[in-house]
Amino acid sequence: MRALVFESFGGPLTVQDVPAPDPAPGGVVVRVGASGLCRSDWHAWQGHDPDVVLPHVPGHELAGTVAAVGADVRRWRVGDRVTVPFVNACGRCAQCAAGEHQVCTRQTQPGFTHWGSMAEYVALDAADVNLVALPDGLDAVTAASLGCRFATAFRAVAQVARVRPGEWVAVHGCGGVGLSAVQVAVAAGARVVAVDVSPAALRLAAANGAEHAVDGGGGVPATVAELTGGGAHVSLDALGAAVTCENSIRSLRPRGRHVQVGLLPPAQGRPEVPMDLVVARELQVLGSHGMAAHAYPELLGLIAAGRLRPQALVTRELGLDEAGAALAAVGRGPGIAVVTGS
Ligand SMILES: [Zn+2]
Ligand SMILES: [Zn+2]
Repeated sequence: MRALVFESFGGPLTVQDVPAPDPAPGGVVVRVGASGLCRSDWHAWQGHDPDVVLPHVPGHELAGTVAAVGADVRRWRVGDRVTVPFVNACGRCAQCAAGEHQVCTRQTQPGFTHWGSMAEYVALDAADVNLVALPDGLDAVTAASLGCRFATAFRAVAQVARVRPGEWVAVHGCGGVGLSAVQVAVAAGARVVAVDVSPAALRLAAANGAEHAVDGGGGVPATVAELTGGGAHVSLDALGAAVTCENSIRSLRPRGRHVQVGLLPPAQGRPEVPMDLVVARELQVLGSHGMAAHAYPELLGLIAAGRLRPQALVTRELGLDEAGAALAAVGRGPGIAVVTGS
């Protein structure tokens, strides 16, 4: 099969012919219909993820069609249209037994723990636990972002922060996951302040319902406090950087909730968390890591009803031959880029 491969961290990203995977007994192989380009892929390429073994194929945000099924799989057959959370849970550990598959202690992740979806085919573990059937009306390009960024944003806003109508939500970083969070928060009845250094990203945030668009260049907490009458109820670091993490926490009103969504690999340095404010304002600092497959029906229902529109965030469709350059330039273009051709 054709796949996007890197053989050294930060090195060339080239399309190569490599062996196609076989399914594990409990797993499937999916023919990739679309694969979103996410900042986490860039982290994997940069060597920020200790799970990645070279040579490596990135890609974890996918939708496609089941092409081969392991002998122990009961719920899926060849031809089923599916997506999958980027966290593939084991289905058997204590976290999985509690329904918290997104923090499974024996998880695998395509594009990190094994080869990913920037390829014609990708292997997925524990298919009965992890696959999500796509409704007929949902195309692969739109569905790809449900594997990571849109589902991650949905869970962060709706289930971790538990955003309520009328609350102010500040979103720091308006890339794919940030724009998704803007859309989900607006649909939940919140009022949104979007923060980014890119005017194009802020225009997309406004088009997706953000009430205020704030330049992230400086003075962000004071600006958010002024716009929201004392600070946001909920604030998300949707980028994963020291500055956005700290700005997010400092943007909160007393008893506000910070949700860390963007990855902060220690290799990039550690953020300074203002714990003095966490105490003095009784802030909550929360983490959000993907979403379990069993939690997808609520999200899919809102998409089918037109209340959420992930397709509005897809700004570019690329062939596999263009994926390497796009991955290396992640974050420079607004919206979500999806690789469709292999
Ligand atoms: Zn587990
Ligand atoms: Zn991702």
